[in-house]
Amino acid sequence: MYSGPGVKTSPDFPIPDTMKAWVLGNPGELKLTQKPVPVPKRAEVLVRIDAVAICATDLEIIDHGPPASIQGGMPFNKNFTPGHEYMGTVAALGPGVDEYKIGQRITVEIHAGCGQCKRCREGMYTSCHNYGLNYGDVDKGHRANGFTTDGGFCEYQVNNINTLVAIPDAMSDEEATLVVTAGTAMYGLTELGGLVAGESVVVTGPGPIGLLGVAVAKALGAQPVILTGTRDNRLKIGRELGADYTINVRNEDAVEAVRRLNGGKGVDYVVECSGAPNAVNEAVRMVNRGGKVCLAAFPHQETPVDVAHIVRNNIYLYGIRGEGKSATHRAEAFMSQKRFDATKIHTHTFPLDDLPTAIRYAKDRVDDAIKVVVKARGVAAHRVAAE
Ligand SMILES: [Zn+2]
Ligand SMILES: [Zn+2]
Repeated sequence: MYSGPGVKTSPDFPIPDTMKAWVLGNPGELKLTQKPVPVPKRAEVLVRIDAVAICATDLEIIDHGPPASIQGGMPFNKNFTPGHEYMGTVAALGPGVDEYKIGQRITVEIHAGCGQCKRCREGMYTSCHNYGLNYGDVDKGHRANGFTTDGGFCEYQVNNINTLVAIPDAMSDEEATLVVTAGTAMYGLTELGGLVAGESVVVTGPGPIGLLGVAVAKALGAQPVILTGTRDNRLKIGRELGADYTINVRNEDAVEAVRRLNGGKGVDYVVECSGAPNAVNEAVRMVNRGGKVCLAAFPHQETPVDVAHIVRNNIYLYGIRGEGKSATHRAEAFMSQKRFDATKIHTHTFPLDDLPTAIRYAKDRVDDAIKVVVKARGVAAHRVAAE
């Protein structure tokens, strides 16, 4: 019978001893296995995973390894379960937990910092100085589920209570998986100093973070919000989420267009979500003097940067990692108030057993897939079109 020291369970949520879990074998190879259901410790709960979204970073990890780091090394053949954008229901409470109730619906952030280093003490737990240290005699208690510890492509996972975000009944499982993506965009704008209504924003790259970055910037009162990209169908979704203008960079010069659309001086902020080779040089020419650029995408190669332009114009560059400073709570507040409809980027749902198909849809953008979700229960059809 499922139990652990000081762990509270409920007859309403019977918990099996083992669960279905996908594990990463060699690069690109996922296998469906059985694992023991993990047991929460102090300040942790057991989450029954109801839905998990696939992220471009999951595809990177599954095929190449980084940014995942398991026991200080590559994640292959270590019985590691990837997946980090999940939501579910609290199914058991670790010792002393009274902040959440069994049966409560929640979504999760990825990073539980160590809680003791300089950055964690500042709320920058995604930049924890003990990142990845959660094993052996270097166990500092850091967890980044799906990156440094087991993630969400399974039926249950343990989460620190600091990573939980309560969600209303009216929010669907699929929408709840998108809170952390919106939270990442929110964190970017927080790190830039906090957007004030009426300031101007360009978002480059209409992937999930970029599209929800448009939505968050608009909800914060940005004016105008300009989105750049190469695909008209995604730019259209950007307009539906609040972009005042969109620029297809295949048809026109993005820097010139931004300057024209904002009175010739450039905008206050750029949130760079494309990872394109020349993205930084273009971003620093889209902002006005003294403007700020947030870098939220991982480019694949090193590129020369025009430092003199940055210095002469007093431009600030910020790299952000993930969703720190409780930004997911602020993103969830916008979503529960229906300030924007994040489900516009959810396109497909598959059963958990069909994870390889779901990954193929996400990777090859089959059927214009953007956010693909897998669910362990309640998915009857092989493929469910988005609402
Ligand atoms: Zn992600
Ligand atoms: Zn830390």
